[in-house]
Amino acid sequence: MLDEIIDSSQKAMELEDKHGAHNYHPLPVVLKKGKGVFVWDVEGKTYFDFLSAYSAVNQGHCHPRIISALQKQAEELTLTSRAFYNDTLGSYEKFITEYFGYDKVLPINTGVEAVETALKLCRKWGYEKKGIPANQATIIMVEGNFHGRTLGVISGSTDPDSTTGFGPFLPGLKVIPYNDVSALANALKEPNIAGFMVEPIQGEAGVFVPDEAYLKTCFDMCKEANVLFIADEVQTGIARTGKMLCTDYAEIKPDIVILGKALSGGVFPVSAVLADDEIMLCIKPGEHGSTYGGNPLANIVAMEALKVVKDEGLVDNAYFLGKYLRQELRKIDSPLIKLVRGKGLLNAIVINSESEKTAWNICLKLRDNGLLAKPTHSYIIRLAPPLVITKKQIDECIAIIKKTILEYAE
Ligand code: PLP
Repeated sequence: MLDEIIDSSQKAMELEDKHGAHNYHPLPVVLKKGKGVFVWDVEGKTYFDFLSAYSAVNQGHCHPRIISALQKQAEELTLTSRAFYNDTLGSYEKFITEYFGYDKVLPINTGVEAVETALKLCRKWGYEKKGIPANQATIIMVEGNFHGRTLGVISGSTDPDSTTGFGPFLPGLKVIPYNDVSALANALKEPNIAGFMVEPIQGEAGVFVPDEAYLKTCFDMCKEANVLFIADEVQTGIARTGKMLCTDYAEIKPDIVILGKALSGGVFPVSAVLADDEIMLCIKPGEHGSTYGGNPLANIVAMEALKVVKDEGLVDNAYFLGKYLRQELRKIDSPLIKLVRGKGLLNAIVINSESEKTAWNICLKLRDNGLLAKPTHSYIIRLAPPLVITKKQIDECIAIIKKTILEYAE
């Protein structure tokens, strides 16, 4: 039925343009099928996917084990709400808490809902355990952050595209420079600080990797000040950066970890907040939740998605192939490349150009050459393939990127 309607890219794009809100500006390519590291457009052309749905498809498109788990559970039970118990939630909670080493999990749906959950949990802990006077809690965030799109979360954003026209904003958030420990030291001197929330690498901002000691120093300072260290690992977590969590590089255990995206292997929205009892049990029955959070389908899919990550060695694959990718990209001799940065398979090329269009135009040429990537801001191209990519495939992709950059002319 759908095949009859959308038989050309042009038609699909016109339909979206006419009937959908204009809140995105997609690269002009219309995808119809995905398998592993590949996606196909409606005309049948094959591409390497170098975005992985913003790191949601770490396990590769339509992973057979995840899809099979989804199908099996979909025929059994999909949703009960949390008004009743279901026979999958407890097993999933045991599985994920043991997997990441926390006492408890709060299951929810999208990444931003998990961030909102963490902010609420942090405030609750601040009042109940730290003794902050009612309605006085402050949570520290950093410039350039991206934690999602709700009003609460954009209240701490410094990106005008995210905030302009959407005020008034939520009070109780203080924004300090990223990768600046003295800014955090100063902020922590203020009264009523409940938490510090940070992305271990800023993905949407353009794959900004902080100094090596940054996270550990911030973590120690938070401990000293009795402030919760909250790691938003929605994009960096689940093997993407070459460790299971990116904070593993700093050898720290955040007080609260936020996961999403690849928790379902790109199948549908599944997110989670992890914390130990002292923090998580501050939220009591009726105080927070979501109809779909912890649904049977999500529980089964997430367990399978996490098992695939371990069974297929995706942490090591991301670590070694990421290192190799950066090393090879840095050899490309072009004035267009200002620098290549990243960790594991979360990487970016920073484009050296006066023109705001260059990164976009390079992405169009990459598309023509069979590789899909999207600029983040106007001069950064993020490179984040599914973590199931092989060395041979990475070599093919490096060749495509090299050819595209070397042949590029404004
Ligand atoms: N946090 C981080 C670090 C993200 O990168 C994103 C999305 O890109 C989110 C939160 C929001 O996730 P979602 O789009 O699923 O709400």
